[in-house]
Amino acid sequence: MNRRSLTFRLVSWYCGLLMLLGAAFATYTYTNFDRYIRQTNRENLGARAEAVWDIARNALGDEAGLAQLIEQRFAPETQGRFIRISVGGRVVYVSPAPVEHDFDPATVPLSAASGKPRLDRWGNLLLYVRQFALPGGAKVTVETGVSNELMETAETGLATSLLIGLPVLLILATSGGYVLVRRALAPVEAMIEAAEALTFNSPHNRLPLAGTGDRVEALGSALNRMLERLDNAYQQASRFSADAAHELRTPLSIMRGELELMATRLDLPADVQTAVGNTLDEAVRLSQIVESLIALSRMDSIGGKRVHRAVDLIALAAETIDQMRLLAEEKDIRLDGPSRPPVFVAGDRDRLKQVLVNLIDNATKYTPSGGRVSVDVATVPGMAVLAVTDTGIGIAPQHQGMIFDRFFRVATARGEVGAGLGLAIVKSICTAHGGRVTVASSPGAGSTFRVELPLASADLIGKPDGIASAGNRDPVT
Ligand code: ADP
Repeated sequence: MNRRSLTFRLVSWYCGLLMLLGAAFATYTYTNFDRYIRQTNRENLGARAEAVWDIARNALGDEAGLAQLIEQRFAPETQGRFIRISVGGRVVYVSPAPVEHDFDPATVPLSAASGKPRLDRWGNLLLYVRQFALPGGAKVTVETGVSNELMETAETGLATSLLIGLPVLLILATSGGYVLVRRALAPVEAMIEAAEALTFNSPHNRLPLAGTGDRVEALGSALNRMLERLDNAYQQASRFSADAAHELRTPLSIMRGELELMATRLDLPADVQTAVGNTLDEAVRLSQIVESLIALSRMDSIGGKRVHRAVDLIALAAETIDQMRLLAEEKDIRLDGPSRPPVFVAGDRDRLKQVLVNLIDNATKYTPSGGRVSVDVATVPGMAVLAVTDTGIGIAPQHQGMIFDRFFRVATARGEVGAGLGLAIVKSICTAHGGRVTVASSPGAGSTFRVELPLASADLIGKPDGIASAGNRDPVT
């Protein structure tokens, strides 16, 4: 559990607050209940003491008559009441033991009475003591009492209910709070999911807004406006490199043409011929870079809006291998192709061919003479898997994550002609086809580039021209 997460913190605060409120509520309820019961007992016992005094004040001389009067009126034995009257410390009446035997009146010590009535406790007896004065000045103490058991049972019942009920309530409220927090954060989760899926191939996609009009929606709108600005900046930068590449294309072609013409002249001094040859090589390299940049910017600007056809990867691989065999043979590298029934993917034939050309070109470039390059095609559910394997120099693990970046080249490959754009183009094409490219390589042993592409649907294969729009294609990477 992440203790720093918003959900955890909100639920903990909520739970803590509920615990505090629950404890305050329980204490308040219990003390108030206790006070109320004490107050009620005090009033009842006080009223009874006065009623006893009303009877006793005129009957103090006749103790038997007094006992009879009191028992008739208050029935202390059956009602579980305690009544005792004493004059100047001498008991003139004490009620008999109650039938329930809650207390024994004979054992209750005489209370020291003062002018002020008070409520006392003796064992489980709640005792009210009040002093009255006879006209002659003699003091009469009237004590009334009742068993405390009922009150204690009620208080224990209340305390138990609070102790059991409050934690249960707390658990329920905390679970409810957790669910509510999760629901309140659902729009944020949706935004995270959408943000994770955003790529430059879906530049117009935006974060979903919950329409709640609260701060979460405000955050979503702010992020969407930021995406809009980033998108514009990215489009501008892409347009700039595309425009620059286009502008370079023509002068470069002219330069190449002129240099090729000069290279055919045999009357030039040897050092000039060498210089022309070197400059021509660089011009060719520059042209390749410019062509690659144009290809990349075209992929960026078209994005997923290409028209896809059913393309047989087996036939395409065989054709590409035939065209590149000479290149491999020059280096004494064996180039093998797949031999199996057609595997149709949905895609743009020319772009897919470029993937094959770039991968086979790299494989032959980075494989020493006598090595082997093989192209295989397999299928997994829903996908075609094209693998280009070589027995070449391999790629160090720390470089494997970067070779698909634009202009990235491993230092040891500097001697080779190339600008570090070949694999970037492969990745860009795969992404635009809803597929992906990965590499597995061990230095010194060789590399395998694995391209996964969605298989063409039966619909697409069946179509006479095999064309389908890929406008809504959603790239994986
Ligand atoms: P380059 O034009 O330099 O070949 P790429 O984008 O095609 O650019 O490749 C980037 C880097 O990845 C290369 O510089 C090279 O170091 C490495 N690389 C690509 N393919 C292979 C391979 N088959 N074997 C070894 N290294 C490779």
